Amino acid sequence: MAGRANPVVLLGIAVACTAAICCLPGAAMTGSETQGAAAGTGSDFPIASEVRLAGDDKRTRFILDLDKNVQFRAFALADPYRVVVDLPQVTFQLAAGAGSSGRGLIKAFRYGLVMPGGSRIVFDLAGPARIEKSYVLDAANGQPPRLVLEFEAVDRTAFVQLLGVENRPELRPAVAVAEPVTTAPAAAISAAAIEATGTTKTVEPVDKRPVVVIDPGHGGVDNGTQAGGESEKNLVLGFALALRDRIEKAGKYRVTMTRTDDTFIPLGDRVRIARNQAAALFISIHADALPRREGDARGATIYTLSDKASDAEAERLAELENKADAIGGVNLTEEPTDVADILIDLAQRETRTFSNRFARMLKNEMKTTARMHKHPLKSAGFRVLKAPDVPSVLLELGYVSNKSDLEQLVSDNWRSKTVGSVAQAVDAFLGRRIVSAGPAN
Ligand code: ZN
Repeated sequence: MAGRANPVVLLGIAVACTAAICCLPGAAMTGSETQGAAAGTGSDFPIASEVRLAGDDKRTRFILDLDKNVQFRAFALADPYRVVVDLPQVTFQLAAGAGSSGRGLIKAFRYGLVMPGGSRIVFDLAGPARIEKSYVLDAANGQPPRLVLEFEAVDRTAFVQLLGVENRPELRPAVAVAEPVTTAPAAAISAAAIEATGTTKTVEPVDKRPVVVIDPGHGGVDNGTQAGGESEKNLVLGFALALRDRIEKAGKYRVTMTRTDDTFIPLGDRVRIARNQAAALFISIHADALPRREGDARGATIYTLSDKASDAEAERLAELENKADAIGGVNLTEEPTDVADILIDLAQRETRTFSNRFARMLKNEMKTTARMHKHPLKSAGFRVLKAPDVPSVLLELGYVSNKSDLEQLVSDNWRSKTVGSVAQAVDAFLGRRIVSAGPAN
Protein backbone atom coordinates (compact mmCIF):
# COMPACT_ATOMS: atom_id res chain seq x y z
CA MET A 1 0.00 0.00 0.00
CA ALA A 2 1.74 3.15 -1.13
CA GLY A 3 1.17 5.84 1.45
CA ARG A 4 0.36 8.50 -1.10
CA ALA A 5 -2.90 10.33 -1.32
CA ASN A 6 -5.43 8.48 -3.32
CA PRO A 7 -8.34 10.83 -3.70
CA VAL A 8 -11.24 10.37 -5.97
CA VAL A 9 -13.11 12.68 -8.21
CA LEU A 10 -16.57 12.94 -9.54
CA LEU A 11 -16.18 12.67 -13.24
CA GLY A 12 -19.72 12.66 -14.37
CA ILE A 13 -23.28 12.76 -13.16
CA ALA A 14 -25.99 11.12 -15.13
CA VAL A 15 -27.98 13.13 -17.52
CA ALA A 16 -30.50 11.27 -19.55
CA CYS A 17 -29.94 12.50 -23.05
CA THR A 18 -32.62 11.91 -25.60
CA ALA A 19 -32.47 9.57 -28.53
CA ALA A 20 -29.52 9.96 -30.93
CA ILE A 21 -28.57 6.55 -32.14
CA CYS A 22 -25.85 8.35 -34.07
CA CYS A 23 -23.93 8.37 -30.78
CA LEU A 24 -23.22 4.69 -31.25
CA PRO A 25 -21.21 4.16 -34.41
CA GLY A 26 -19.59 0.80 -34.87
CA ALA A 27 -20.61 -0.35 -31.42
CA ALA A 28 -22.13 -3.58 -32.64
CA MET A 29 -20.28 -6.55 -31.19
CA THR A 30 -23.41 -8.40 -30.32
CA GLY A 31 -22.76 -11.98 -29.38
CA SER A 32 -25.75 -13.36 -27.59
CA GLU A 33 -28.65 -11.01 -28.24
CA THR A 34 -30.94 -13.96 -27.75
CA GLN A 35 -31.07 -14.52 -24.01
CA GLY A 36 -31.48 -10.92 -22.90
CA ALA A 37 -35.21 -11.17 -22.37
CA ALA A 38 -36.44 -10.79 -18.83
CA ALA A 39 -36.12 -14.04 -16.94
CA GLY A 40 -38.67 -13.12 -14.31
CA THR A 41 -36.48 -11.67 -11.57
CA GLY A 42 -39.49 -10.76 -9.48
CA SER A 43 -38.15 -7.29 -8.73
CA ASP A 44 -38.34 -3.83 -10.18
CA PHE A 45 -34.61 -3.37 -10.42
CA PRO A 46 -33.31 -2.28 -13.79
CA ILE A 47 -31.95 -5.22 -15.76
CA ALA A 48 -28.62 -4.99 -17.56
CA SER A 49 -28.80 -7.49 -20.39
CA GLU A 50 -25.90 -6.82 -22.70
CA VAL A 51 -22.54 -5.10 -22.66
CA ARG A 52 -20.19 -4.04 -25.42
CA LEU A 53 -16.79 -2.41 -25.67
CA ALA A 54 -15.62 -0.52 -28.73
CA GLY A 55 -12.63 1.59 -29.68
CA ASP A 56 -8.88 1.45 -29.13
CA ASP A 57 -6.24 2.51 -26.63
CA LYS A 58 -6.86 6.20 -27.27
CA ARG A 59 -10.62 6.13 -26.90
CA THR A 60 -12.75 3.30 -25.61
CA ARG A 61 -16.50 3.20 -25.31
CA PHE A 62 -18.45 1.09 -22.84
CA ILE A 63 -22.10 0.44 -23.61
CA LEU A 64 -24.52 -1.27 -21.27
CA ASP A 65 -28.06 -2.17 -22.39
CA LEU A 66 -30.68 -1.63 -19.71
CA ASP A 67 -34.43 -1.95 -19.59
CA LYS A 68 -34.94 1.45 -17.98
CA ASN A 69 -33.05 4.66 -17.41
CA VAL A 70 -30.79 4.92 -14.39
CA GLN A 71 -28.92 7.63 -12.56
CA PHE A 72 -25.25 6.99 -12.04
CA ARG A 73 -22.08 8.49 -10.70
CA ALA A 74 -18.53 7.86 -11.81
CA PHE A 75 -15.22 8.54 -10.16
CA ALA A 76 -11.60 7.58 -10.65
CA LEU A 77 -9.03 5.99 -8.38
CA ALA A 78 -5.28 5.87 -8.92
CA ASP A 79 -2.67 3.20 -8.25
CA PRO A 80 -3.87 1.07 -9.87
CA TYR A 81 -5.84 3.18 -12.35
CA ARG A 82 -9.51 2.46 -11.98
CA VAL A 83 -12.85 4.03 -12.71
CA VAL A 84 -15.80 3.21 -10.51
CA VAL A 85 -19.41 3.68 -11.57
CA ASP A 86 -22.09 3.59 -8.89
CA LEU A 87 -25.64 2.79 -9.97
CA PRO A 88 -28.88 2.04 -8.22
CA GLN A 89 -29.33 -1.70 -7.69
CA VAL A 90 -29.21 -3.40 -11.05
CA THR A 91 -29.89 -7.02 -11.90
CA PHE A 92 -27.01 -8.06 -14.12
CA GLN A 93 -27.93 -10.69 -16.68
CA LEU A 94 -24.73 -10.49 -18.66
CA ALA A 95 -23.08 -13.41 -20.42
CA ALA A 96 -20.81 -15.48 -18.19
CA GLY A 97 -17.29 -14.10 -18.28
CA ALA A 98 -18.42 -10.60 -19.30
CA GLY A 99 -15.73 -8.18 -18.20
CA SER A 100 -13.00 -10.75 -17.66
CA SER A 101 -11.16 -9.34 -20.65
CA GLY A 102 -11.25 -5.84 -22.02
CA ARG A 103 -10.44 -3.71 -24.97
CA GLY A 104 -8.48 -0.52 -25.54
CA LEU A 105 -8.25 1.50 -22.33
CA ILE A 106 -10.28 -1.02 -20.37
CA LYS A 107 -8.29 -4.03 -19.18
CA ALA A 108 -11.23 -5.69 -17.51
CA PHE A 109 -14.27 -4.80 -15.46
CA ARG A 110 -16.31 -6.28 -12.62
CA TYR A 111 -19.84 -5.61 -11.56
CA GLY A 112 -22.20 -6.52 -8.78
CA LEU A 113 -24.06 -5.42 -5.71
CA VAL A 114 -22.08 -3.10 -3.48
CA MET A 115 -24.78 -2.41 -0.91
CA PRO A 116 -28.50 -3.06 -0.63
CA GLY A 117 -29.97 -0.78 -3.26
CA GLY A 118 -26.67 -0.04 -4.96
CA SER A 119 -24.65 -1.71 -7.68
CA ARG A 120 -21.19 -0.90 -8.92
CA ILE A 121 -19.05 -1.42 -11.97
CA VAL A 122 -15.29 -1.23 -11.46
CA PHE A 123 -13.05 -0.77 -14.48
CA ASP A 124 -9.39 -1.72 -14.40
CA LEU A 125 -7.71 0.66 -16.79
CA ALA A 126 -4.73 -0.09 -18.97
CA GLY A 127 -3.35 3.34 -18.07
CA PRO A 128 -4.45 6.80 -16.96
CA ALA A 129 -7.73 7.73 -18.62
CA ARG A 130 -10.69 9.93 -17.94
CA ILE A 131 -14.34 9.62 -18.74
CA GLU A 132 -14.75 12.18 -21.45
CA LYS A 133 -18.50 11.72 -21.71
CA SER A 134 -21.06 9.67 -19.88
CA TYR A 135 -24.77 9.55 -20.41
CA VAL A 136 -27.83 7.35 -20.59
CA LEU A 137 -29.49 7.14 -23.97
CA ASP A 138 -33.25 6.89 -23.79
CA ALA A 139 -34.90 3.97 -25.48
CA ALA A 140 -35.56 4.83 -29.10
CA ASN A 141 -36.30 3.11 -32.39
CA GLY A 142 -36.67 -0.29 -30.77
CA GLN A 143 -33.31 0.05 -28.96
CA PRO A 144 -33.20 -0.28 -25.18
CA PRO A 145 -31.93 2.49 -22.90
CA ARG A 146 -28.14 2.45 -22.85
CA LEU A 147 -25.54 3.60 -20.40
CA VAL A 148 -22.58 4.90 -22.37
CA LEU A 149 -19.17 5.79 -20.97
CA GLU A 150 -16.50 7.21 -23.24
CA PHE A 151 -12.99 6.81 -21.93
CA GLU A 152 -10.15 8.95 -23.23
CA ALA A 153 -6.44 8.38 -22.60
CA VAL A 154 -4.70 11.14 -20.64
CA ASP A 155 -1.19 11.35 -19.20
CA ARG A 156 -0.55 10.71 -15.54
CA THR A 157 -0.20 14.40 -14.68
CA ALA A 158 -3.61 15.15 -16.12
CA PHE A 159 -5.08 12.13 -14.36
CA VAL A 160 -3.69 13.20 -11.00
CA GLN A 161 -5.02 16.73 -11.54
CA LEU A 162 -8.44 15.24 -12.16
CA LEU A 163 -8.20 13.56 -8.79
CA GLY A 164 -7.67 16.92 -7.11
CA VAL A 165 -11.34 17.47 -6.42
CA GLU A 166 -12.21 15.44 -3.37
CA ASN A 167 -15.27 13.29 -3.67
CA ARG A 168 -15.84 10.01 -1.97
CA PRO A 169 -17.61 6.91 -3.01
CA GLU A 170 -20.67 6.82 -0.78
CA LEU A 171 -20.23 3.36 0.61
CA ARG A 172 -20.38 4.22 4.27
CA PRO A 173 -24.06 5.15 4.58
CA ALA A 174 -25.22 1.86 3.17
CA VAL A 175 -23.06 -0.09 5.56
CA ALA A 176 -24.34 2.06 8.41
CA VAL A 177 -27.84 0.87 7.64
CA ALA A 178 -26.83 -2.63 8.62
CA GLU A 179 -24.59 -1.73 11.55
CA PRO A 180 -24.58 1.76 13.06
CA VAL A 181 -20.98 2.88 12.79
CA THR A 182 -19.59 4.47 15.89
CA THR A 183 -15.99 4.87 16.87
CA ALA A 184 -15.78 2.19 19.48
CA PRO A 185 -13.53 3.02 22.40
CA ALA A 186 -10.37 0.99 22.74
CA ALA A 187 -11.98 -1.08 25.41
CA ALA A 188 -9.88 -3.52 27.32
CA ILE A 189 -10.61 -7.11 26.51
CA SER A 190 -13.48 -8.50 28.43
CA ALA A 191 -16.05 -11.06 27.59
CA ALA A 192 -18.51 -8.83 29.38
CA ALA A 193 -17.76 -5.92 27.08
CA ILE A 194 -20.98 -6.52 25.22
CA GLU A 195 -22.67 -3.98 27.45
CA ALA A 196 -19.90 -1.47 27.06
CA THR A 197 -20.33 -0.44 23.46
CA GLY A 198 -20.92 3.10 24.67
CA THR A 199 -23.51 3.90 22.04
CA THR A 200 -26.87 5.51 22.61
CA LYS A 201 -28.60 2.67 20.85
CA THR A 202 -31.32 1.44 23.17
CA VAL A 203 -33.81 -0.21 20.87
CA GLU A 204 -32.54 -3.74 21.20
CA PRO A 205 -33.38 -5.72 24.31
CA VAL A 206 -30.26 -6.46 26.32
CA ASP A 207 -28.80 -9.71 25.17
CA LYS A 208 -25.70 -10.58 27.15
CA ARG A 209 -24.67 -13.58 25.16
CA PRO A 210 -21.21 -13.29 23.58
CA VAL A 211 -21.28 -12.16 19.98
CA VAL A 212 -19.63 -14.17 17.23
CA VAL A 213 -19.07 -12.25 14.01
CA ILE A 214 -18.97 -14.46 10.94
CA ASP A 215 -17.41 -12.84 7.92
CA PRO A 216 -17.93 -14.46 4.52
CA GLY A 217 -15.09 -13.08 2.39
CA HIS A 218 -15.49 -11.01 -0.79
CA GLY A 219 -18.95 -10.40 -2.33
CA GLY A 220 -20.57 -8.20 -4.94
CA VAL A 221 -18.00 -6.85 -7.39
CA ASP A 222 -15.31 -8.92 -5.69
CA ASN A 223 -15.67 -12.59 -6.65
CA GLY A 224 -12.63 -13.86 -4.78
CA THR A 225 -10.99 -16.94 -6.23
CA GLN A 226 -12.73 -18.85 -8.98
CA ALA A 227 -12.47 -22.35 -10.40
CA GLY A 228 -14.69 -24.94 -12.00
CA GLY A 229 -17.53 -22.45 -12.38
CA GLU A 230 -17.56 -21.79 -8.62
CA SER A 231 -16.85 -18.42 -7.01
CA GLU A 232 -15.25 -18.13 -3.61
CA LYS A 233 -17.75 -15.43 -2.64
CA ASN A 234 -20.68 -17.84 -3.06
CA LEU A 235 -19.01 -20.88 -1.52
CA VAL A 236 -17.99 -19.02 1.60
CA LEU A 237 -21.37 -17.32 1.96
CA GLY A 238 -23.10 -20.71 1.91
CA PHE A 239 -20.71 -22.04 4.52
CA ALA A 240 -21.02 -18.94 6.71
CA LEU A 241 -24.81 -19.01 6.67
CA ALA A 242 -24.82 -22.67 7.62
CA LEU A 243 -22.39 -21.91 10.44
CA ARG A 244 -24.58 -19.06 11.65
CA ASP A 245 -27.63 -21.34 11.71
CA ARG A 246 -25.72 -24.01 13.61
CA ILE A 247 -24.44 -21.62 16.28
CA GLU A 248 -27.76 -19.82 16.65
CA LYS A 249 -29.62 -23.06 17.00
CA ALA A 250 -27.52 -23.95 20.03
CA GLY A 251 -28.62 -20.62 21.50
CA LYS A 252 -25.53 -19.83 23.57
CA TYR A 253 -24.09 -17.10 21.37
CA ARG A 254 -25.35 -14.28 19.25
CA VAL A 255 -24.20 -14.23 15.65
CA THR A 256 -23.67 -11.18 13.48
CA MET A 257 -22.86 -11.59 9.82
CA THR A 258 -20.81 -9.03 7.92
CA ARG A 259 -22.89 -9.93 4.88
CA THR A 260 -25.79 -12.26 4.22
CA ASP A 261 -26.05 -11.74 0.48
CA ASP A 262 -23.89 -11.02 -2.53
CA THR A 263 -22.79 -7.57 -1.37
CA PHE A 264 -19.35 -6.01 -1.38
CA ILE A 265 -18.18 -4.96 2.10
CA PRO A 266 -14.85 -3.12 2.49
CA LEU A 267 -12.33 -4.77 4.80
CA GLY A 268 -12.36 -1.85 7.24
CA ASP A 269 -16.13 -2.14 7.63
CA ARG A 270 -15.87 -5.83 8.43
CA VAL A 271 -13.46 -4.97 11.24
CA ARG A 272 -15.71 -2.14 12.42
CA ILE A 273 -18.73 -4.41 12.61
CA ALA A 274 -16.80 -6.73 14.93
CA ARG A 275 -15.63 -3.84 17.11
CA ASN A 276 -19.01 -2.12 17.29
CA GLN A 277 -20.55 -5.37 18.44
CA ALA A 278 -17.74 -5.82 20.98
CA ALA A 279 -17.54 -9.27 19.49
CA ALA A 280 -15.99 -12.10 21.45
CA LEU A 281 -14.78 -13.75 18.25
CA PHE A 282 -14.42 -12.89 14.58
CA ILE A 283 -14.18 -15.63 11.97
CA SER A 284 -13.49 -14.71 8.37
CA ILE A 285 -14.31 -17.50 5.91
CA HIS A 286 -12.45 -17.90 2.61
CA ALA A 287 -11.37 -20.44 0.03
CA ASP A 288 -7.95 -20.23 -1.56
CA ALA A 289 -6.61 -21.04 -5.00
CA LEU A 290 -3.11 -21.67 -6.26
CA PRO A 291 -1.94 -20.88 -9.76
CA ARG A 292 -1.20 -24.15 -11.54
CA ARG A 293 2.54 -23.51 -11.77
CA GLU A 294 2.72 -23.27 -7.97
CA GLY A 295 1.70 -26.84 -7.41
CA ASP A 296 -1.48 -28.38 -6.11
CA ALA A 297 -1.92 -27.53 -2.44
CA ARG A 298 -4.99 -28.76 -0.62
CA GLY A 299 -6.69 -28.75 2.74
CA ALA A 300 -7.90 -26.13 5.19
CA THR A 301 -5.61 -23.51 6.74
CA ILE A 302 -6.23 -21.21 9.69
CA TYR A 303 -4.58 -17.80 9.64
CA THR A 304 -3.99 -15.33 12.43
CA LEU A 305 -2.61 -11.81 12.33
CA SER A 306 1.10 -11.14 12.54
CA ASP A 307 3.41 -8.37 11.41
CA LYS A 308 5.69 -10.87 9.80
CA ALA A 309 4.26 -13.58 7.58
CA SER A 310 4.95 -17.12 8.75
CA ASP A 311 6.00 -18.16 5.24
CA ALA A 312 5.93 -17.03 1.64
CA GLU A 313 2.56 -18.59 0.94
CA ALA A 314 0.94 -16.83 3.89
CA GLU A 315 2.41 -13.57 2.66
CA ARG A 316 1.11 -14.13 -0.87
CA LEU A 317 -2.33 -14.91 0.45
CA ALA A 318 -2.52 -11.89 2.76
CA GLU A 319 -1.54 -9.67 -0.13
CA LEU A 320 -4.25 -11.22 -2.27
CA GLU A 321 -6.95 -10.96 0.37
CA ASN A 322 -5.96 -7.39 1.20
CA LYS A 323 -6.59 -6.46 -2.41
CA ALA A 324 -10.33 -6.81 -1.87
CA ASP A 325 -10.72 -3.06 -1.30
CA ALA A 326 -8.93 -2.21 -4.52
CA ILE A 327 -11.12 -4.70 -6.37
CA GLY A 328 -14.27 -3.20 -4.93
CA GLY A 329 -13.18 0.34 -5.71
CA VAL A 330 -12.66 1.59 -2.17
CA ASN A 331 -10.45 4.55 -1.47
CA LEU A 332 -7.95 3.10 0.97
CA THR A 333 -6.93 6.45 2.46
CA GLU A 334 -10.26 6.76 4.24
CA GLU A 335 -9.69 3.61 6.26
CA PRO A 336 -8.21 4.58 9.62
CA THR A 337 -7.28 1.05 10.61
CA ASP A 338 -3.80 1.73 11.92
CA VAL A 339 -4.27 2.86 15.45
CA ALA A 340 -1.13 3.88 17.28
CA ASP A 341 -2.41 4.04 20.80
CA ILE A 342 -0.35 2.23 23.39
CA LEU A 343 -3.46 0.88 25.11
CA ILE A 344 -4.59 -0.54 21.85
CA ASP A 345 -1.16 -2.02 21.39
CA LEU A 346 -1.46 -3.80 24.73
CA ALA A 347 -4.97 -4.99 23.99
CA GLN A 348 -3.78 -6.18 20.63
CA ARG A 349 -1.08 -8.32 22.14
CA GLU A 350 -3.56 -9.96 24.43
CA THR A 351 -6.01 -10.35 21.58
CA ARG A 352 -3.38 -12.13 19.53
CA THR A 353 -2.88 -14.63 22.29
CA PHE A 354 -6.61 -15.36 22.25
CA SER A 355 -6.65 -15.51 18.46
CA ASN A 356 -3.85 -18.05 18.46
CA ARG A 357 -5.57 -20.09 21.12
CA PHE A 358 -8.77 -20.21 19.10
CA ALA A 359 -6.81 -21.09 15.96
CA ARG A 360 -5.32 -24.13 17.72
CA MET A 361 -8.69 -25.23 19.04
CA LEU A 362 -10.19 -24.82 15.60
CA LYS A 363 -7.44 -26.91 14.05
CA ASN A 364 -7.98 -29.68 16.58
CA GLU A 365 -11.72 -29.77 15.98
CA MET A 366 -11.52 -29.46 12.22
CA LYS A 367 -8.98 -32.18 11.71
CA THR A 368 -11.51 -34.71 12.92
CA THR A 369 -13.84 -33.94 10.00
CA ALA A 370 -11.97 -32.02 7.30
CA ARG A 371 -8.69 -32.45 5.50
CA MET A 372 -6.18 -29.91 6.77
CA HIS A 373 -3.29 -28.33 4.90
CA LYS A 374 0.07 -29.87 5.78
CA HIS A 375 0.89 -26.66 7.70
CA PRO A 376 -2.57 -25.73 8.97
CA LEU A 377 -1.63 -22.80 11.25
CA LYS A 378 -0.12 -19.73 9.65
CA SER A 379 0.01 -15.98 10.14
CA ALA A 380 0.40 -12.82 8.08
CA GLY A 381 -0.76 -9.21 7.86
CA PHE A 382 -4.42 -9.64 6.95
CA ARG A 383 -6.26 -6.31 7.15
CA VAL A 384 -9.51 -8.02 8.09
CA LEU A 385 -7.94 -9.47 11.25
CA LYS A 386 -6.84 -6.10 12.63
CA ALA A 387 -9.47 -5.38 15.28
CA PRO A 388 -7.24 -4.70 18.29
CA ASP A 389 -9.79 -6.01 20.77
CA VAL A 390 -11.52 -8.89 19.00
CA PRO A 391 -9.86 -12.30 18.70
CA SER A 392 -9.88 -12.94 14.95
CA VAL A 393 -8.97 -15.76 12.61
CA LEU A 394 -9.24 -16.26 8.88
CA LEU A 395 -10.23 -19.74 7.83
CA GLU A 396 -9.35 -20.87 4.32
CA LEU A 397 -11.65 -23.85 3.88
CA GLY A 398 -9.56 -25.38 1.13
CA TYR A 399 -8.34 -24.78 -2.39
CA VAL A 400 -10.84 -24.29 -5.18
CA SER A 401 -7.90 -25.01 -7.49
CA ASN A 402 -7.66 -28.56 -6.15
CA LYS A 403 -10.12 -30.96 -7.66
CA SER A 404 -11.00 -32.95 -4.57
CA ASP A 405 -11.05 -29.88 -2.32
CA LEU A 406 -13.51 -28.28 -4.70
CA GLU A 407 -15.66 -31.39 -4.68
CA GLN A 408 -15.81 -31.14 -0.91
CA LEU A 409 -16.46 -27.42 -0.88
CA VAL A 410 -19.62 -27.89 -2.91
CA SER A 411 -20.75 -30.99 -1.01
CA ASP A 412 -23.59 -30.57 1.50
CA ASN A 413 -22.32 -33.48 3.53
CA TRP A 414 -18.83 -32.03 3.87
CA ARG A 415 -20.20 -28.62 4.68
CA SER A 416 -22.48 -29.92 7.37
CA LYS A 417 -19.70 -31.92 9.06
CA THR A 418 -17.22 -29.08 8.85
CA VAL A 419 -19.69 -26.47 10.07
CA GLY A 420 -20.26 -28.76 13.03
CA SER A 421 -16.58 -28.88 13.90
CA VAL A 422 -16.17 -25.10 13.61
CA ALA A 423 -19.22 -24.58 15.84
CA GLN A 424 -17.70 -27.04 18.31
CA ALA A 425 -14.45 -25.05 18.39
CA VAL A 426 -16.36 -21.79 18.93
CA ASP A 427 -18.13 -23.34 21.87
CA ALA A 428 -14.95 -24.74 23.34
CA PHE A 429 -13.19 -21.39 23.01
CA LEU A 430 -15.94 -19.12 24.31
CA GLY A 431 -16.92 -21.50 27.07
CA ARG A 432 -13.42 -21.49 28.43
CA ARG A 433 -12.88 -17.81 27.80
CA ILE A 434 -15.87 -16.67 29.80
CA VAL A 435 -14.52 -18.49 32.80
CA SER A 436 -11.02 -17.02 32.45
CA ALA A 437 -12.36 -13.48 32.07
CA GLY A 438 -14.49 -13.64 35.19
CA PRO A 439 -14.21 -11.40 38.28
CA ALA A 440 -11.39 -13.52 39.71
CA ASN A 441 -9.10 -11.62 37.30
ZN1 ZN B 1 -10.60 -14.89 -0.01
